[in-house]
Amino acid sequence: KLREMAFRDGLTGLYNHRYFQEFLDRELSRARRYERTFSLIMLDLDHFKKINDKFGHPIGDIVLVEISKLISDTIRSSDFAARYGGEEFALVLPETDLEGAAVLAERIRIGVEQLEICVGDSNINTTISAGATCYKFSYGKKEKSEIILLADNALYYSKKAGRNKISLVSADDPTRLQKSEIQLS
Ligand code: GH3
Ligand code: MG
Ligand code: MG
Repeated sequence: KLREMAFRDGLTGLYNHRYFQEFLDRELSRARRYERTFSLIMLDLDHFKKINDKFGHPIGDIVLVEISKLISDTIRSSDFAARYGGEEFALVLPETDLEGAAVLAERIRIGVEQLEICVGDSNINTTISAGATCYKFSYGKKEKSEIILLADNALYYSKKAGRNKISLVSADDPTRLQKSEIQLS
């Protein structure tokens, strides 16, 4: 139990930043060794500072916990979800290509958009922005930091495009960032 706790984020119960780094290292080695693929999604809450300013930090914390629950309930048991930092989350999806990552990111985006967080007399609504990238063994040697940077760039692209959006970039063509055109029926 102590070992498990060392891997977890105290507030949300998701995996912590350190374990995320370890997991991603292993997933990258696995994909290269066994000729597999995986995706990485970075998520960041939109204008979260405003929620803290309006409702206070403890309620901001509750929002983080509720969104973490939604993420956990949306992913598969073989997927990996971590709190990357303050109000940022990172998801590693083994055996998932960019299209699969887009479907999941969009599902989470819509889930958060529709989520009403009731605390006391307040109903809080919020949104997230996401960036996703995919690694395939055929792309050859890539650094972990390179893959994180790609997902981060895609996330930044979503923010610049107006937030509450997901963007995609493939690790074999980092210059071709795209806004996702995936529509969930
Ligand atoms: P953007 O849409 O550009 O992401 O805007 P933002 O306000 O979300 O971004 P910014 O990075 O300016 O602010 C992040 C905020 O997240 C500021 C910080 O107070 C808050 N935050 C970080 N960690 C925690 C936490 O553990 N609890 C709470 N309540 N707030 C946190
Ligand atoms: Mg942030
Ligand atoms: Mg933010």
